[in-house]
Amino acid sequence: MSGWLLFICCGLLLTACTSKKNADLLVYNATIYTVDSSFSTADAMVIKDGKIVAVGKKSKLEKEYQSKNNLNAEGKYIYPGFIDAHAHFVGYAKGLGAVDLVNTTSWNAVLARFSDFKTDGDTTSWIIGRGWDQNDWPVKEFPTNEELNKRYPNRPVYLSRIDGHAALANNKALELAGVKAGDTISGGIYQVKNGRLTGLLIDNAMDKVAAKIPDPSLTAMKTLVLQAQKNCFGVGLTGIHDCGLDYETVEKIAALQQCGELKMRLYILLSDAKKNYEYLAKKGIIKTDRLNVRGFKLYADGALGSRGACLLHDYADKPGWKGFLLSNPAHFDSMAALIKKNNWQMCTHAIGDSGNRTLLKIYAKYLDGKNDRRWRIEHAQVISPEDFHLFGDNSIVPSVQPTHATSDMYWAGDRLGKERLKGAYAYQQLLKENGWIPLGTDFPVEDISPLKTFYAAVVRKDAKGFPANGFQVENALTREQALRGMTIWAARAAFEEKEKGSLEPGKFADFVILDGDLMTEPEAGVLTAKVLKTYIGGERVF
Ligand SMILES: [Zn+2]
Repeated sequence: MSGWLLFICCGLLLTACTSKKNADLLVYNATIYTVDSSFSTADAMVIKDGKIVAVGKKSKLEKEYQSKNNLNAEGKYIYPGFIDAHAHFVGYAKGLGAVDLVNTTSWNAVLARFSDFKTDGDTTSWIIGRGWDQNDWPVKEFPTNEELNKRYPNRPVYLSRIDGHAALANNKALELAGVKAGDTISGGIYQVKNGRLTGLLIDNAMDKVAAKIPDPSLTAMKTLVLQAQKNCFGVGLTGIHDCGLDYETVEKIAALQQCGELKMRLYILLSDAKKNYEYLAKKGIIKTDRLNVRGFKLYADGALGSRGACLLHDYADKPGWKGFLLSNPAHFDSMAALIKKNNWQMCTHAIGDSGNRTLLKIYAKYLDGKNDRRWRIEHAQVISPEDFHLFGDNSIVPSVQPTHATSDMYWAGDRLGKERLKGAYAYQQLLKENGWIPLGTDFPVEDISPLKTFYAAVVRKDAKGFPANGFQVENALTREQALRGMTIWAARAAFEEKEKGSLEPGKFADFVILDGDLMTEPEAGVLTAKVLKTYIGGERVF
């Protein structure tokens, strides 16, 4: 047999023995942060049917797999798709249809944003705005509605504050809702000055007026939600925990996902309302590849900015005032019993040290030591030094938003005083309790960008680079911790760590390609890192 023939025969034999497995996509020439348990990196990965089948060295993977498509990542950096563990995706979407009042520098600047609505000819449709923050104004006082009444005597106006815990309504809106001066509501305030309503509504007082705002139609909602999704893919998000929706909205979301246009993976917490508990009890836990509903969002108290957070002692800048709980402790207790009985997840917004203590103690009563129920405290913002251990003792998950620290740092000290401030935004201390901590933004209260979360968590500065030495840096997270918080730990907070949150075989091929290395980039480079591509289930969506 000639040498050539022998060579060809052996070649055929070898190919037959090592027939390659088929795949859809080989990604190579990258630094892939897998965020697996040992935080390993790789230079290539193989994807099939929307899932990762192998991660490792290109030279090795090429021998094993025959891929239909190849993606040269050109030496860039790949991370698991970012997951925001606390946001309001639908609220953000609806906000895209409202007048944007974020970053207004005065009440007059707010009014100027309505220049398109000069005439009051239209007497039916609502003017909705969101995002004002009196803490950013020269006069840091709540606005009143006189000017809105003058301009829009016949048209309802509703402008919510940046934190969603206060709103300003004009008289037309108050009238439609049937709110009168002197009305009271538990867990809220209808502000009155000189015997008349000022239009300022705090916490529960917003509900009656907000309920009158017509819900967008499914078509209108679809347009807004798809725009919101596009924005979120653009910043590298592939998963979002939406904290507090009614079941009717969940059904709309499920319908949009089923028709294939809404691809975002959503973990939805239902709002604390009887109809929602009844719905989930009847329906059972909802779980598809893109939708997971098994938890409830409750509110212990309001926000620190509007002094609605419930504190153990008086506000430093308002003697005689401690804020308030939004419901009676008996309510939280009975809901905890119901949630435990049904094996659901309880997630409660708690900002003040009293709000936190009340809920931590109720949680502890039902959880009773270490467990895997993953009940969460959303924000866990101001914690009394005596209460931190309750998180670890009862495996309670603090779900925190690092950009809140750097947005609030300008005035949080005024509200709390120096001593109490030490137990606020204490993410490293909270992380130590269970060894893991999910991170989010609370958008639209904050910007949607996960890179801002990473930056705030690691350097404790805002996007302007303030303060030079960082805010309470003893509570900064390491870069690895911050990345875990935005990926695998966020997945874990939703019972989804086996399917997403890291780039490992068997998991969804949800990943993002950045032009920067988050682990080694100088500080400023973290904020300017660009999202180049976003993939969800192996499909490029940005
Ligand atoms: Zn929130």
